[in-house]
Amino acid sequence: MIVKIEPLAGFCFGVVSAINLVEKELKDNDKLYCLGDIVHNNMEVERLSKLGLEVIDIERMKALKNTKVMIRAHGEPPSTYKLAEENNIEIIDATCPIVLKLQQNVRKGYLRMKEIGGQVVIYGKKGHAEVVGLVGQTNNEAIVISSKDDLDLINFDKPIHLFSQTTMSKEEYKAICNEIELRHKLHNQNNNQAHDVIITNSICGKVSSRSKELIDFSDTVDVVLFVSGKSSSNGMYLYNLCKAHKEATYLISNKEDIKKEWFEGCESVGISGATSTPRWLMEEIMDACISIN
Ligand code: SF4
Repeated sequence: MIVKIEPLAGFCFGVVSAINLVEKELKDNDKLYCLGDIVHNNMEVERLSKLGLEVIDIERMKALKNTKVMIRAHGEPPSTYKLAEENNIEIIDATCPIVLKLQQNVRKGYLRMKEIGGQVVIYGKKGHAEVVGLVGQTNNEAIVISSKDDLDLINFDKPIHLFSQTTMSKEEYKAICNEIELRHKLHNQNNNQAHDVIITNSICGKVSSRSKELIDFSDTVDVVLFVSGKSSSNGMYLYNLCKAHKEATYLISNKEDIKKEWFEGCESVGISGATSTPRWLMEEIMDACISIN
């Protein structure tokens, strides 16, 4: 049985630079606090915790003073930076440059919408760290929508500026955008008014380009093992996409999840993962598949 790892699978540059920053800090210090899991992958979180990385939440941060706290690639709202200043906490900022740029654009969009009585709408997972950071740019006024079921939260009498969390599905974002434009058009036909709908394509290119790479890779093997934490947005998106294309796709988080019966009559296995899946974990899974064989 041939076992191979998708060549381009593994951490995106945003996650790589966050982890490099952690490792650099922990070379000189025994401990570093991190606001939330550095990456949506338990195995990597466990590895880094052994080096001295301690995951905290915002409540715990409120009680800390005169220390260092790391902000992960997802970014944080302005209130976190304010809290750090008040508590003399040095921020080690690993916000991904793409997320940082999006935060700035959401802020600009918010100020423009405020001037013309409009609203900022963010398509993303409610409560997801990146979304919390984006909503924070709008004084917590942005409307968060996770599916078409949430569209009634939008006031179609007002201008709309729509953004997406960077790791959402581009196909679903397109469908949401089309629906909003359609409802806006119908609404304004009835009301004889014209308002702006501005759509910003803010899905990360690293995530959107992965879909084609993954599908092409899945066509070269009989079985795909997709390695991801269930809380990873891009992981679930890529897994579902691959599963819809190739039935013999299995979601696993570590080598213990592998089932021998998946490989009956199979000649080739492909291993892939989310932008938050470490390469070392995929290599460990490859070794486990080879030893089953
Ligand atoms: S998925 Fe894209 S936006 Fe998110 S951390 Fe990686 S590079 Fe940055």
